[in-house]
Amino acid sequence: MIPVTTFSGRKVALFGLGGSGLATARALVAGGAEVTAWDDNPDSVEKARLADIPTRDLREIDWPAQAAFVLSPGVPLTHPKPHWSADLARAHGVDIIGDVELFVRERRAHAPDCPFIAITGTNGKSTTTALIAHILKASGRDTQLGGNIGTAVLTLDPPAPERFYVVECSSYQIDLAPTINPSAGILLNLTPDHLDRHGTMQHYADVKERLVAGAGIAIVGVDDSYCTLIADRIERAGVRVKRISRRNVVADGFYAEGARIMMAEQGAATQIADLAGIDTLKGGHNAQNAAAAIAACLAVGLTAEDIRSGLASFPGLKHRMQPVGRLGRVTFINDSKATNADAAAPALSSYDRIYWIAGGLPKAGGIASLAPLFPRIVKAYLIGEAAPEFAATLGESVAFEISGTLDKAVAHASADAQAAGEDVVVMLSPACASFDQFRNFEVRGEAFVSRVAELQGVAMLVAPEQGI
Ligand code: ADP
Repeated sequence: MIPVTTFSGRKVALFGLGGSGLATARALVAGGAEVTAWDDNPDSVEKARLADIPTRDLREIDWPAQAAFVLSPGVPLTHPKPHWSADLARAHGVDIIGDVELFVRERRAHAPDCPFIAITGTNGKSTTTALIAHILKASGRDTQLGGNIGTAVLTLDPPAPERFYVVECSSYQIDLAPTINPSAGILLNLTPDHLDRHGTMQHYADVKERLVAGAGIAIVGVDDSYCTLIADRIERAGVRVKRISRRNVVADGFYAEGARIMMAEQGAATQIADLAGIDTLKGGHNAQNAAAAIAACLAVGLTAEDIRSGLASFPGLKHRMQPVGRLGRVTFINDSKATNADAAAPALSSYDRIYWIAGGLPKAGGIASLAPLFPRIVKAYLIGEAAPEFAATLGESVAFEISGTLDKAVAHASADAQAAGEDVVVMLSPACASFDQFRNFEVRGEAFVSRVAELQGVAMLVAPEQGI
């Protein structure tokens, strides 16, 4: 845990007692702050009480006496409308901050030079974060991985000079971190998302820009117009910028040429890595993620050799296009996280001969947008409530069966793929939510891995029920 010493002896109000909120309250108490915590859910308040966190309805506290108000990133700060607690803090002129801000203040106070890489963007955050942490760990660095990826940042080990932090930041966390100053800040890409919480695309982009504007070195994907403008603007303001692109040559930065990642300095380019043969980093989207990871690792002092060896041993992220097993010439891929057609597109684009398991609880729009990728599908195995609708979309153009359940789909797809006698994949990339048949996409992915593990003669690449 990182005890928050920067508020020692001062009063701090806190709202939101879910996983990260409770961890934040604990860290504040451990550092000597006088915390008053609250949540709209009585069960969460009770949990905090049992953990010896002082609780009280924040409508009843002495607001002018509070040194800060700490809000959970899941609670609306501005859109669709501010939570009542945020309104109260604003009315009394109390600073509203989140756990990432507490972390950056602790780092500044105790180990301002310890390497801190912060990652944001609309897509690819978790992959890039996990990849960077993996490369650092594989090279023997003391590596702390946290933030939006799942481990609350204040549960990590305290800042120390040789300790490396890799922190995934959602836009909500950046919104609550006014002085965020990573040694290397990554902004991967920006497309419309979460506009319910940010109002406009411009506000969403402005929030994301803050992470790179405060960075020692800013690594910005320039494959969309919002990020391109941001890179230009912060560079004009004096920030050191490395541009990355999966599509175009850049003069100073990193770009993909097929599976090769090139490093350009003052217009001269050399190859720094080759992703060909790295199954966990297939596809153009992963070239963008890998280019960003390479730029960040170089920025914090790793050698090109360290980076190449870390890339080659990346095990991938669970449920995201992860190769999980091999049987003869068939590779089994778990992409359970793909809960809509857009999210399934990168996986379908990354392989040529696919036995595709899809379906679940359908989302608006179905899979019509995937039609250009249909030629890659040898046969589809449809499950869940979406099966009839998907069957209608596939129509005459793709062979399919309505398997109904995941168990049947795996058994049938595996048998058909074996019979093909060539290099193919059996891939779960459902393009649907899971809730008709599973508790969530993780449980669905685990079920897939377990069924694959039961196939006779299969060599597993991950252990069922774990992975990373
Ligand atoms: P996030 O943490 O931002 O949600 P993930 O790394 O978990 O992103 O990836 C989620 C899905 O987004 C992947 O399965 C893939 O389909 C897609 N994806 C990953 N990286 C990128 C990228 N750089 N650009 C576009 N889509 C991506």
